[in-house]
Amino acid sequence: MSRIRLLSETVASQVAAGEVIERPASVVKELVENSIDAGARKIDILIRRGGISLVRVVDDGCGMDRDDALLSLERHATSKIRSADDLAAVATLGFRGEALPSIASVSRFRLTTRENDAIAGTDIAVNGGKIDIVRDSGEAPGTQIEVRSIFYNLPARRKFLRTENTEARNIEHQLHLQAIGHPEIALTFVRDERVVFQLPATTNLIDRLRDLYGSELVDKLLPLRSTSSIRVNGFIGRAGFSRQTRDQQLTFVNGRAVENATISAALREGYHTALMKGQYPITFLFIDIEPSAVDVNVHPAKREVRFRDPASVREAVVRAIRQTLQSGREDWQEKFRAPLPETGGTTSVSSQTFSPAPSPRELPQLESEFALHREKVAAMPALENLGRDRARPSNGQQQFQIIGVLNKLYVLMENADGLVLVDQHAAHERILFEELRRRMEEQGVPSQKLLLPQTFDVAPRDAEWITRNMSILQKMGIGIEQFGPNTYKIDSLPQFVRAADGEQFLRAVIDELKTTSNSSSPLRLGEDMIAKTVCRHAVKANDPLRYLEIEKLIQDLLACDLPYCCPHGRPTMIQISLAELEKKFGRKV
Ligand code: ADP
Ligand code: MG
Repeated sequence: MSRIRLLSETVASQVAAGEVIERPASVVKELVENSIDAGARKIDILIRRGGISLVRVVDDGCGMDRDDALLSLERHATSKIRSADDLAAVATLGFRGEALPSIASVSRFRLTTRENDAIAGTDIAVNGGKIDIVRDSGEAPGTQIEVRSIFYNLPARRKFLRTENTEARNIEHQLHLQAIGHPEIALTFVRDERVVFQLPATTNLIDRLRDLYGSELVDKLLPLRSTSSIRVNGFIGRAGFSRQTRDQQLTFVNGRAVENATISAALREGYHTALMKGQYPITFLFIDIEPSAVDVNVHPAKREVRFRDPASVREAVVRAIRQTLQSGREDWQEKFRAPLPETGGTTSVSSQTFSPAPSPRELPQLESEFALHREKVAAMPALENLGRDRARPSNGQQQFQIIGVLNKLYVLMENADGLVLVDQHAAHERILFEELRRRMEEQGVPSQKLLLPQTFDVAPRDAEWITRNMSILQKMGIGIEQFGPNTYKIDSLPQFVRAADGEQFLRAVIDELKTTSNSSSPLRLGEDMIAKTVCRHAVKANDPLRYLEIEKLIQDLLACDLPYCCPHGRPTMIQISLAELEKKFGRKV
């Protein structure tokens, strides 16, 4: 007896639907993408009960005539590609001709559509894949699709739905992607009769972002600058500004929101030393690439893409992020360039009990306060020694006034913008890091001979690691050479390392770098090593600094490539603007 039989069209659709339609958010995604492809200027989305009981999408796009409307419900029916060749350069969001039949096969579905110049439109009702009603309708031009009771005929799928809240959140996230990908389209989202957002059409991505997230977030974004042939546009969060989830790490390729490992890796690389561990950057990143250089037909849900030349995409993204983050420095420097008010902002204080902020001319007074700790300070390494021979641009233009040091850690300063708090430890880390990196790239970090060279044995795998990274270790100022099969000799250490025990230092370095750095680039390995070791040798939280040292610290910091965060991504400076203070004190609403 033969056991194989062809599945009915309806069952085949339901099976296929499983790949495209996982949850209500996938319905929203497919319908909104169709509206965008139909040239809509305005799309209204309404959901009830997390989209489980209803998803409705209404657009003012091109609409369909009756024949097309019926055809659109057939599997593999699409107006967007004709041949396999077209697949090589898809310019629309859809192209598989799967979404409408899939959705219609797992829900109570209704399609109402009318072409612009048609006298009447068409209204089609489908239940679980079977067409029930086809009739004329008098709706406005455009298309309206209602999807009720998703998975009502597939209990196994229905069970996998999450709570209404979670499903609604997924839908909202999906709509954010569409809204950001297409600011030129007006979007309204209503959830259970409540308007979640109502976004006017705009030609500016930044306006769309402000409408969605508010100006507090937008103020922390930098416009991407790119000089590669692969265009990288959009906005990214300033260094040190991040999230604990990937929710706002959005990337678009030719207008399509995608998840792509190459891009994610490039973002991480671009933000290296500008993000805290375990944090994700905020990115609204748009890659424009020739359609034939990217394959969008990787996954039925079209979330993933494959690049023909991933290395060049990676390179373009890393470069764009790096350049953009460094450009943020100019904004900072701007704040330190404008002249301070003559009186240091203390004009209204008349009482004798308030002593105005000490100006550099009143140095001796401040000096004496620190005098007690002078010895300790004098023993401090690196800060002055390292900075000394570095040719810097003239700092004469920088305008700031140090007010004092809070809790032996936070330097309080005034600049034209208001109050600045500097974490002196984090600041010193950043300065040392960049200084050492520069030296490593140029001539190698200066090293200091050990009184007694040390030999030591390591495990074979560590030996392999050391041998492989020998030259970078030497550039880092570690004088190391092979002494036996698994034995090494150290005779010098980098100057900034004050560990008496070379062996212990090296073992710690190996342990840390082996686990954290899987990069094969020697430069990156060196950076990691510096970041790891610098921390321990930077000015400690409680090290009191003399006024001149503080001033130099700030100047050195402002001259860094990424002054606003330490190599571990923690902020070095916090600016509290006068406007913010005025708001806090209720002087301004
Ligand atoms: P695809 O988008 O991959 O072509 P779909 O199943 O999503 O496949 O849609 C099938 C076809 O129905 C589309 O190619 C398009 O011609 C038409 N269509 C779907 N939605 C709309 C809409 N909102 N406005 C106009 N035409 C639409
Ligand atoms: Mg589609």
